[in-house]
Amino acid sequence: MNAGPWLPVPPRGYGGIENIVATLVPELRALGIEVVLATVGDSTLAADERVHTFPSGQFEMLQRPYNQACGVVPAHQAAVVRRVAVGDIDLVHDHVEAAGLTMLAAFGAGGPPGLQTLHWDLRKHPELYGSFDGGDRVRVNGVSADQLTHAPEALRRHAIGHVHLATPLAVDADRRESHEKHGYAVVLGRINAGKGQDLAAELAHRHGFDLVLAGPVGPYHTPEALAGADPQNPDVRFWREKVAPHVDGDRVRWVGTVAGDDRDALVAGARAALFPLRWNEPGGTAVVEALALGTPVVGIARGCLPELIEHGRTGLLTTDEDELGALMHGVDAISEAECRAEAARRFTPAVMAAGYAALYERMVASA
Ligand code: UDP
Repeated sequence: MNAGPWLPVPPRGYGGIENIVATLVPELRALGIEVVLATVGDSTLAADERVHTFPSGQFEMLQRPYNQACGVVPAHQAAVVRRVAVGDIDLVHDHVEAAGLTMLAAFGAGGPPGLQTLHWDLRKHPELYGSFDGGDRVRVNGVSADQLTHAPEALRRHAIGHVHLATPLAVDADRRESHEKHGYAVVLGRINAGKGQDLAAELAHRHGFDLVLAGPVGPYHTPEALAGADPQNPDVRFWREKVAPHVDGDRVRWVGTVAGDDRDALVAGARAALFPLRWNEPGGTAVVEALALGTPVVGIARGCLPELIEHGRTGLLTTDEDELGALMHGVDAISEAECRAEAARRFTPAVMAAGYAALYERMVASA
């Protein structure tokens, strides 16, 4: 299981992919699958064996110039390649953007089958995805069905289906007591043009609802850190030009990155989790977390949202940005218990692990 060099597993705060790996590995081991975890040295997730190159997560390096950052992934992947060369690995499950896919292909006909989970927007890397040929042993899976429909044909030929994301919060979510709701809506996620925090903030003022934004701006997790931010960072520019003008600290607040119990309390206490998407959100961990915490989802019906949310039952969806704010007036009619029950049924770690175990079996059998 290759979690990559960027953040420890589990992550301490933000970390979509690392959260998924941390959720998946214990369940796979409970199914009797031995897992060698490729990660960074300060990961704490239990595995049968761990390999790493870097002692700690290299996330900050992503802000450095290319000639400094470009060695990180190869150095990490070298440890994976060395471990695979021992010859006892039945399958490699990789989560490293772009470079992981070419590594799996490079193992060749004599190597183990390789599965890459596509956590990304598949319009990226058109040169790689548009002509990719990993032979019979490399397969990819989506994190939603919608995501794969946007994949280039060459990549789609390697697709073996999709597995929805999961969250430990979904376990027994249907048995948890309901949480006291406050008046605000929340947007939880990286502050990024695709995630549409600017639209949420503008609608909060126009439709008169309180809004809390939570999540990092690029690598900056607090207002203090952001004060000294690199102005060229695209997420920093998006924040300064499009979001910050709406953030008055009253109607609309930004609380930086939240983690652990604080994150759960923030989401559970919200009337709605807003997803004002301007991109095709591929998987949406924050979407399934909201349901697990009994918070209905209000969003733009694109990407994974229509697969994860049933309009009128677990949330409210529209394709129209202008209508999104009006939906907030109807959200209190959505049953919190219904949201939690849906999460407990569809988005538990066990359900996700069963999905991956089935893919592994198909791949190992055909190899
Ligand atoms: N997250 C968090 N604190 C924050 C913002 C996000 O813990 O302030 C977590 C969030 O709960 C989710 C993950 O980071 O588990 C984001 O994953 P998602 O798939 O929603 O978005 P991505 O950033 O991977 O596109």
